[in-house]
This record gives sequence, C-alpha cells and structure tokens, in this order.
Amino acid sequence: MDFEYKQKTNAERAKVEDLFDYEGCKVGRGTYGHVYKGKRKNRLNTDGREYALKQIEGTGISMSACREIALLRELKHPNVISLQKVFLSHTDRKVWLLFDYAEHDLWHIIKFHRSAKANKKQIDVPKNMVKSLLFQILDGIHYLHANWVLHRDLKPANILVMGEGEERGRVKIADMGFARLFNSPLKPLADLDPVVVTFWYRAPELLLGARHYTKAIDIWAIGCIFAELLTYEPIFHCRQEDIKTSNPYHHDQLDRIFNVMGFPQDKDWEDIRKMPEHGTLTKDFKRSNYVNCNLVKYMEKHKVKPDSKQFHLLQKLLTMDPTKRITSELAMKDPYFLEDPLPSQDVFEGKNIPYPKREFLTDDDDDKADTGASKAGGADQSSGHNQPPAKRVRVMPPSTHIHNVQAQQALQFSSSNIQTSTSSTYTSRF
Ligand code: AMP
Repeated sequence: MDFEYKQKTNAERAKVEDLFDYEGCKVGRGTYGHVYKGKRKNRLNTDGREYALKQIEGTGISMSACREIALLRELKHPNVISLQKVFLSHTDRKVWLLFDYAEHDLWHIIKFHRSAKANKKQIDVPKNMVKSLLFQILDGIHYLHANWVLHRDLKPANILVMGEGEERGRVKIADMGFARLFNSPLKPLADLDPVVVTFWYRAPELLLGARHYTKAIDIWAIGCIFAELLTYEPIFHCRQEDIKTSNPYHHDQLDRIFNVMGFPQDKDWEDIRKMPEHGTLTKDFKRSNYVNCNLVKYMEKHKVKPDSKQFHLLQKLLTMDPTKRITSELAMKDPYFLEDPLPSQDVFEGKNIPYPKREFLTDDDDDKADTGASKAGGADQSSGHNQPPAKRVRVMPPSTHIHNVQAQQALQFSSSNIQTSTSSTYTSRF
C-alpha cells in the first residue's frame, strides 16, 4: 500500500479511546467480552447520549466474522439492540462493538423482584408489565426469525430494557447471532477460564443431541423467560457445577424439565425416538418417576391459574415437540395479547422505574467471576454478585443453516466502520 495513503488513513482512523470516555465504567462481563458504559468525549458529546461498548474477548477477527457483524448491523427493529459501529484497534488487535445503552435487563429486574418477594416488600409495577415485556420480546424475535437470524442464546441477561429517555421502557434483544459468531473460540479452549454454561433455557431437543439450531429453540427459551417473569424463579433451574462437557446431553437438566413438565408421551412427541441421544434417554430415565408432574401443577404452585390466557400461551411456548411449538408470529396473535390490559410500548407505562441503575464493576469483581464465585447457580443465580452466571459457551455447537439478511451483499470493511448499503424494512406493531 502507498505509504502516504497508509499514513493518511491511519490518522483518520477513529479509535475508541479517542472518541469515548469509558474508563472505570465497566457494567458487565458477558459471554464474549467486557461491556462498558461510554459517553462521547466533550466536544462530541452534544446530546449526552450513552452507549455500551463491548470489547470482544481475545484478539483479531476472521473475515467471516466481519461479514456476519456487518449483517448484524443491517438489523433494524425497535426491539433489537442496534449495533452502531465496529472498531478495530490496530495496536492491540482488539475488536470493539458500539451499541445503544440500556439501563436495565431482565436478569437484574427478576433478581430485584425475587429479593423483594423474599423480604415481603411490595413493588409497584404496571399490571401489564410482563405482557408488554413478552410481546416486545416476541416482536423482536419475529423480526430476527423473519430475516433468518436465530438468536441461540436467549436468557434474561440478554433481554435489555431501556431506562429514562426517548425509548423509555422499550425491550431490546441483545447478543443475537453472536453465539454462532464467537462459538469457535479465538484462543484454544484450554486457555479459557473454567467455563460455565446456563442450560436452563436450553430446549429439550438440544439436550437430546439435535444437531441444528432452529427458530423453535429460541421459542422454548422465550417460554422459560415468560415463566420466570411470572414466578421470579428460573423454571428449569438446575445445579451448574458439573456442566463442563462438550456433550450436549445433560441428564440433570432433562430431569429438571421432566420434573416440571412430565415425561413426554410418544403421541405428543413422535420424533423423539429419532433424536441422537434417545438411546441414552431410555436407558437413564423411567417414565413412572414423573407421572405426577405437569406444568399445571407447577404454575398453580406459583399462583398462575391453568384456565388463564397467560397459562395457555405459556403452554404453547413450552411445547416439548419442536415441530408443534408455537411460532413467534402466532404467539403475537394469541388471545393473551388481546385481553385487557393490553401491552404497551413503555413497559413501565410512565410510572416510576423501581429498579436501580447498573453498578460499575471493578477488576476484583472479574477475579471473583474467574475463580467461580458467581457460578454457584441456585435460584438466586447471583451469589451476591452483580453478574448472571453464564460465561462462555463451550458446548460443541450444533452446525446450522443460518441465512442472514442479504447474505450476498457486498461488504465494505474499513478499520473503523463496516458499511452496508441497504437496510431491511420492517414495521413493528407499535
Ligand atoms: P453480554 O456480553 O451481552 O452478555 O453482556 C454482559 C453484561 O453487559 C450483561 O449484564 C448485559 O446486561 C450488559 N449489557 C450488554 N449489552 C448492553 C447494552 N447495550 N447496554 C447496557 N448493558 C449491556
């Protein structure tokens, strides 16, 4: 490359640290890296807007990952977090992703309610809050699925909710598509921290060795999140310690699912016998151990009536047979959403937001996470820690057929920005 041209582009190349103040403002440590709250530096900060800066763990990035990130930048929907920009730092080969900042997430919101419940404290939230949250999650996922983007790692920590501001109380689905992007680690597995994976939101077909991620897998996870919003307990909570395997089959997690749902009848899930781990299943489990288990009983314990519309929809989302599980499109048309109170755009309905703002983490918090302080699982999930339990995914990923939006589109990649030429259009119901 021409030397002068190289010098000129180097000078123009925008660096994260030149553009944003974020030092000391770490708000999270997620599956793929560290998340900081950032503001544009002085003279650039005309509107006071806040951003989330995600520094991807490891260094460097493959061309296919670049392409995929560029496609994620194309996604535009009110309930999908918008990836604003990608920075590549040439000095340390770090990759930074710039997103809108969301003050809340469902992991923190549920944790807040759980501890209020334990302390018998009443929290004043709008009657339709859970309904609004679920509707917006479905709306965002429907958009992703319509564009052949599968999320693959839906869990409360990935469902963000905007705080005060223009988009107050709006759900933003985060981390979409990244499970596929970063599943093959940049470092050898042995170099990574001890890995803990949350299996609680994992569909039964995945636990039985299904080789492909599907839309139905995201829908199961939404069912789990809905149940957790109604009860403040992870419905398929399972001890985490022993999940360090490359085998998707997980006995304890399946046992937990059957304890809540009952053992699937052959007529309800005919193709279960075709699942790769069906042999292990029949060897390890006895149907007779689960005869008294069903979702009605479980939800009744948590004061959700089996004749309510919310229960009926939950049952459709948590259908064991993936081919019979409801789609996001149909779920959005469910009678639950037509019944008063209707879902709203601001899930807080203009009321006071009772949840605290995100706290900043210190490196100590990180060390604790590394040594396993946050891995205990348990219904509390937190061990007094500020972080949800799951770290990187180490389970062998099933291969997938994911056809992203405008996959053939030409890609322009520069060190500070990825530009794509068209954007997908989609109108939200709101
Ligand atoms: P992740 O890497 O997406 O798993 O995120 C790690 C932590 O950072 C989680 O607690 C998230 O809630 C938080 N986080 C992720 N994205 C954002 C965002 N756009 N705004 C605010 N917090 C975020």
